[in-house]
Amino acid sequence: MIKIDPSPIQKITFLGEVFLLKRDDLLDKDFSGNKARKFYSLLTYNFKGIDTIISCGGVQSNAMYSLSVLAKIKNLKFIYYSDHVPKYLLKNPIGNYKYALKNGMILKIEKDFKIPHSKSSLFIPQGGAFNLAEDGIKILANELKHLRDIDIFLPSGTGTTALYLQKHLHQKVYTCACVGDKEYLKKQFFSLESNKAKHPTILTLDKKYHFGKLYKEFYDIWLKLKRETKIEFDLLYDPLGWITLLKNRQKMGKNVLYIHQGGVIGNESMIQRYKRKFDENS
Ligand SMILES: *Cc1c(COP(=O)(O)O)cnc(C)c1O
Repeated sequence: MIKIDPSPIQKITFLGEVFLLKRDDLLDKDFSGNKARKFYSLLTYNFKGIDTIISCGGVQSNAMYSLSVLAKIKNLKFIYYSDHVPKYLLKNPIGNYKYALKNGMILKIEKDFKIPHSKSSLFIPQGGAFNLAEDGIKILANELKHLRDIDIFLPSGTGTTALYLQKHLHQKVYTCACVGDKEYLKKQFFSLESNKAKHPTILTLDKKYHFGKLYKEFYDIWLKLKRETKIEFDLLYDPLGWITLLKNRQKMGKNVLYIHQGGVIGNESMIQRYKRKFDENS
């Protein structure tokens, strides 16, 4: 049985500035980061009459991997729908894809996936954007609410983590849109919480970045973070998170806490892609 203890908070210095860092990447080896928070309530969920978990999304998704761990622990079948598998992954299984298959995930490649309705299965929306995520994120909020004079920053995908954090915290929560744009993220917030006053504040950059694409400045800041802090951040969300935070630093208060939301297993495939593209001698 997985037990989720509070994750540590540590001080780091990056580019001459001190930040607090919430280490949700250290929650558990197999069930970590914000997916552990979002799927926390499923650890104690009453699966009576349910023998299958169904979800959908990309084949390198952190959510997919975390659900494969959950299904394994709970002795449930895990069916995952995706629209395609990149060739390089088929040839060389790696990262979340490899380990989710190892955990017994049944992968179905379908272009027009329709949400199945069956009494014996539980459907988890892509990326864990659902209201069952609130309980686990509330626990994260409880681990932060004692901090005074602090602003909180975390990068968003579906926005679920940032939204429920802001809902349960008196401190200000800042975020940025890594998937889609600001308008997409606002819509996501409204789909989970109609009261706009409880929404996080979205920070932006002038340049538009596409989710999952490789950018030299992403790889550079990720390497710099690793060199200066000795901590491995995620390569999909954290580079844009840190760039956005640093560019908008003056809009925030004196002290900032950054949430490390895990996702490091997914780096396996990202590092390979980045090395192939930007490291000359490898
Ligand atoms: C899933 C994920 C996110 C995005 O979380 P949302 O709740 O969808 O906004 C950010 N960082 C990492 C490392 C993730 O795995």
